[in-house]
Amino acid sequence: MKVLTYHNVDNPPPEAKLKSLYVKPEKFEKHIKYLNKFKLKTVLSDEIENRKNSIILTFDDGYRDFIKNAYPILKRYNAKAIVFVVAGLTDRFNLWDWEKINVKKPLMDWEELRFLVSEGFEIGSHTITHPFLTKIPEKVAKSEIEDSKKILEDKLGVEVKTFCYPYGDYNEKVKDMVINAGYKMAFTTQEGTFEESKDMFEIKRVTVFGHWILPQFLWKVML
Ligand SMILES: [Zn+2]
Repeated sequence: MKVLTYHNVDNPPPEAKLKSLYVKPEKFEKHIKYLNKFKLKTVLSDEIENRKNSIILTFDDGYRDFIKNAYPILKRYNAKAIVFVVAGLTDRFNLWDWEKINVKKPLMDWEELRFLVSEGFEIGSHTITHPFLTKIPEKVAKSEIEDSKKILEDKLGVEVKTFCYPYGDYNEKVKDMVINAGYKMAFTTQEGTFEESKDMFEIKRVTVFGHWILPQFLWKVML
């Protein structure tokens, strides 16, 4: 089984750097259409049974373009996804990297996130402020991991079972904090299949890039 990572589903603004993390909506629709054609079921963290015919779609950071562009397409194909939200920055923007990539990308607000929950989407934690978890004091890292879960659960009224390491940055200590906080799974930025993952707290994924042509996408999804 593959776990796919998306960031933005939108046309990149001309001034934006790292444009490859933007997948255009038309292209995204093709991705979902083909998953459907190949009878790959999009599953959430507690639905992983028949891995052979399943795929997990994850969206990092909780950008507003998810609800604007990705959600309508997913809805049309009856597909589900996990959205990793930066719990302290809802209704704000990518404060952690906007200067570096030269673009402010709006993040969804609580009302939008509650709507996604009501539509059957899963919300996971992507910390409170999107730090490098191995580069901040342990106490702060612990709060980023534990309190983001509490904030999300309090605001959304559902259990938050999944975590995603910002920048894919973690070590054994950080991983233990995630386990002890009560999460069931954590996702990395390392490439590979679900089965190749060391355990449930170092799950490998495949980042989807906007410049891929369709055969590349299919190749990555199938192999
Ligand atoms: Zn992120």
